[in-house]
Amino acid sequence: MIAEQIRELHSLMPEGTELVAVSKFHPTSSIREAYAAGQRIFGESRVQELSQKHEELADLNIEWHFIGHLQTNKVKYIVPYVSLIHAIDSPHLLAEVSRQALRIGRRINCLLQLHVAAEETKFGFTPDEAMDFLESGEWREMNGVRLAGIMCMATNTDDEERIRSDFHTARTLFDEARKRFFMDDEGFRHLSMGMSDDWPIAVSEGSTLVRIGTRIFGERNYASS
Ligand SMILES: *Cc1c(COP(=O)(O)O)cnc(C)c1O
Repeated sequence: MIAEQIRELHSLMPEGTELVAVSKFHPTSSIREAYAAGQRIFGESRVQELSQKHEELADLNIEWHFIGHLQTNKVKYIVPYVSLIHAIDSPHLLAEVSRQALRIGRRINCLLQLHVAAEETKFGFTPDEAMDFLESGEWREMNGVRLAGIMCMATNTDDEERIRSDFHTARTLFDEARKRFFMDDEGFRHLSMGMSDDWPIAVSEGSTLVRIGTRIFGERNYASS
């Protein structure tokens, strides 16, 4: 079941789009199944769960992505091994990742989380805030991080036009940011968007990283964790 989903999704991804298998709340046995089918990038959204799984699966060559809301006081636990942090939602968090990474001689790829959805949330940069932050140049002094792109979630709705418009907003900002601030920096190349229900729309709007959980691993059982 898991292996079939992985193979099918790999065959459906266009050139230049990679699959992040979101394994949160699922056991390491499921991750091993996906890995055996060829999946290498896994996404988790809680620090303690990621730390445990990273340890239990040390025999595998997994690229771990942190995709959830990250608290500054927990950054230090994941910087030794995480390869991409998707949801940087404030300049303060980015600075802390940089500080912790420098302490251990790493430089960590990070995406700015863009708030484009209709829902109220305190997380993420609005498009204006993101542009202002890039304009400020503050991030150029943060040598423990490398800005590698933009991440977003679309409005949680059945209205496909709204979802498409959210992704399109992110795509437009990504292109503009790349043009204005990263002309000589090929590292700014990820547009992380799309989940189980909306990934085809995200891909058609230019996503380079889709984060898919339920479709691969089934429903998450929050109660048992
Ligand atoms: C859980 C999660 C996903 C995966 O969602 P599915 O609907 O299960 O595919 C993707 N992105 C983020 C940020 C998540 O927290």
